Amino acid sequence: MSDFAFDTVIHGGTIVTATDTYKADIGIRDGRIAAVAESLAGGTKRIDATGRLVMPGGIEGHAHIAQESSTKIMTADDYYTGSVSAAFGGNSSFIPFAAQHRGQSLDDVVAIYDERAAPNSVIDYSYHLIVSDPSPEVLEEQLPRAFARGITSFKVFMTYDLLNLGDGGMLDVLTVAKTHGALTMVHAENNDMVKWMNKRLAAKGLTAPKYHAISRPELAEEEAINRAVTLAKLVDAPLFVVHVSTEAGAAIIRRETQAGVKLFAETCPQYLALTREDLDRPGMEGAKFMCSPPVRDAQTQEALWRHIQAGTFMSVSSDHAPYRYDETGKLFNGADVPYPKIANGMPGIAMRLPWLFSEGVVKGRISANQFVALTSTNAAKVFGMARKGSIAPGFDADIAIWDPNETRVVSLDDQHDNMDYTPFEGLTVTGWPRTVLNRGELVVEERELVATRGRGRFVARDTVDLTGRPGYRAPELDPARNFGADIAP
Ligand SMILES: [Zn+2]
Repeated sequence: MSDFAFDTVIHGGTIVTATDTYKADIGIRDGRIAAVAESLAGGTKRIDATGRLVMPGGIEGHAHIAQESSTKIMTADDYYTGSVSAAFGGNSSFIPFAAQHRGQSLDDVVAIYDERAAPNSVIDYSYHLIVSDPSPEVLEEQLPRAFARGITSFKVFMTYDLLNLGDGGMLDVLTVAKTHGALTMVHAENNDMVKWMNKRLAAKGLTAPKYHAISRPELAEEEAINRAVTLAKLVDAPLFVVHVSTEAGAAIIRRETQAGVKLFAETCPQYLALTREDLDRPGMEGAKFMCSPPVRDAQTQEALWRHIQAGTFMSVSSDHAPYRYDETGKLFNGADVPYPKIANGMPGIAMRLPWLFSEGVVKGRISANQFVALTSTNAAKVFGMARKGSIAPGFDADIAIWDPNETRVVSLDDQHDNMDYTPFEGLTVTGWPRTVLNRGELVVEERELVATRGRGRFVARDTVDLTGRPGYRAPELDPARNFGADIAP
């Protein structure tokens, strides 16, 4: 092997993976990492990473891009602005949602998102489906077809009238997913508890944005997580609980993971960075901080950090849900409407990694290796992107080069999305990605976009890796117990 065969050499940097931190050079050829060695000569292009951290590019596992909500509001970001923003935030690939609305076939959904993503994304992408209508055709034909195409995960909702499946629907989709080695993700909040709260608040005229945070109680999440996990246990199917926002919810994840259940979970920076007081602003301003589940309080933040440190969460994702603070987004139903008519969600795809690095690594809460695991490596494993998420020969050259010492105050300009605000505005953050490569190609170089629109590729993903997750056998469905009812999925 000649040194000069490298297309690119990254030299002089400190490599950080989920397990190790060491000084080495990286040789890239044909989009892959070809060599990692103390010193590499050659390279058509040489990137000086002296004083920098060289990490696997982030994999954003939770983002809403070019997606209509169930109430027909389109996100502000399409696959161009969304992927550009992700890349500036240190990501080299992402997995947004492809949402089925009731009555729609999943084949059509995938075709629609292919049209939205392929010509536009500057980084590699895949989708998680959102299933809102588990008809027999969906369960028996369309979902298996999507799995076969490498779309091996999908999300279901336990809340929202137009999305939630009910417990029976959940059991049906969990069973199909289990049969095909796919992963069911769940938004867990008790729909009726939220509706009951809404009714009580409306009756008293308490409709300002800040009441959104009151309307979705911590118990609504705790109850729904417990129920989702219990449903998954009955059929012994893998489950991924998205955006856990409560201490009690995290405790359930921890307990059941320890019990061997095929369980994964994430939390998001907003639950660590913001509190319900952020919604208490004059006029409608609090709408900018509305998301579901809502942000909580300082005590919850501390508890979620401890769960991050203890390994309860396999990832920290952005849940980027970009609705502008105008009539295209948050104020779609008017400038002075009760909170249930305000679009839910906030942007954050560019801030996920810098914020977590600054608050986590710089402040000593987590190691740089844990940071890599939480932002890239674990997502690659759980979501089946076998060639991504680490720095070693054979992996895609998906690499983010960081200046760990750069300190900046967060501004909207830094986000490079199509939003008119960032909830992180004004925070001081230390450690920023400067250069991002995807399959060896420069996407962002020294904070300048250099990628062409549409260069990102669809990633067909493997089935979920359940190594080390023995699962749970309900006695009534355990053939070994010989109850004479062979109905286990
Ligand atoms: Zn989301």
